[in-house]
Amino acid sequence: MNALLASSDIADIVQKVEAGVRLDARDGLRLFQTNDLATLGFAANLVRQRLHGDTTTYIVNRYLHYSNVCWDTCKFCSFYRKPGEPGSFTKTVEDITAWARQFADQDIAELHIVGGLHPSLKYPYYLEMLRGLKSVLPRTSLKGFTAVEVDWFCRISRKPAAVVMHELHEAGLDSLTGGGAEIFAEHVRKQICPNKIDARRYFEIHGIAHDMGLKTQVTMLYGHIESDADRVDHILRVRDHQDHTAGFQVFIPLAYHPENNAMKAPRATGMTDLKVYAVSRLLLDNVPHIKCYWISAGLKLAQVSLSYGVDDLDGIVYEQERIFHDAGSATPQAVTEEGLCKLITEAGRTPCRRDSRYNLLKTITA
Ligand code: SF4
Repeated sequence: MNALLASSDIADIVQKVEAGVRLDARDGLRLFQTNDLATLGFAANLVRQRLHGDTTTYIVNRYLHYSNVCWDTCKFCSFYRKPGEPGSFTKTVEDITAWARQFADQDIAELHIVGGLHPSLKYPYYLEMLRGLKSVLPRTSLKGFTAVEVDWFCRISRKPAAVVMHELHEAGLDSLTGGGAEIFAEHVRKQICPNKIDARRYFEIHGIAHDMGLKTQVTMLYGHIESDADRVDHILRVRDHQDHTAGFQVFIPLAYHPENNAMKAPRATGMTDLKVYAVSRLLLDNVPHIKCYWISAGLKLAQVSLSYGVDDLDGIVYEQERIFHDAGSATPQAVTEEGLCKLITEAGRTPCRRDSRYNLLKTITA
């Protein structure tokens, strides 16, 4: 270890990382509290290089928001509308399949499907939507619904989660999105999303998907009222679950955006963003990928994040993204494949197009 590293207040943790020793909650807290961002990035990059070398993946995907109508009122949410409220929308299955037909001949690896908890749509709507999409886009992986939506489907269908998950899968669902995780600590959930399912239910639903052989994602919404300890607790709950199922392919930190919602916390700083990526990479020794969702983070931060543990950038999105743009995100709605690859190459990494299961499809050389 060189003199500069040895003088860092996290030098002992870096030594553990170099030796491949699992970090604990205390280490996680110290990593969040250090101001030595350079050493933190060095350690996170060590793990990233070990797992992926310079490979940086992205996917060609599209977004489908089938409805923004939701009975819940999570404080951080800028997306939901009440039924009949100006700006509310609900697409019919016919609208959705007609929309999908427009790009049936394109090479779209994944469709990301998410909506609100609609108070009056019936359960068969969701199955018909999946069947319709699969018939039009048989080669596109359907990554749909948060665990919160799946729990809602259980309530409206009066069926257990295992049955609902099997029916969704039979209708065409290939994986679950990671949304709804927010911050798992109960005292935070009580304040920001008191009606939402708890951590136990979130992991139960993802566990069912994992037992079925599906791979899913998991997120963390940070930068609002949570403490460093809450973040560490969140990340370690993911690690504990992953020790049992190995079903999470990727961890996605998402910064809270303050516009148009009831919770008026300021936007997290760049320092916090980079710490969150790096600490996630260091604590989650059993989750293969750390994603930067550039639509939320911005392309410039996404590029820098590649030196702080991130190895996957959310992809070439064609659709108008609603959840973060309604909350004030000023990022572009889409980026070309060439633009994203240039950004990755400039960061000294090798861009590689992937599919929904992280199989590498095409390496782009500069
Ligand atoms: S976060 Fe989801 S469940 Fe909560 S209000 Fe928004 S759309 Fe509804």
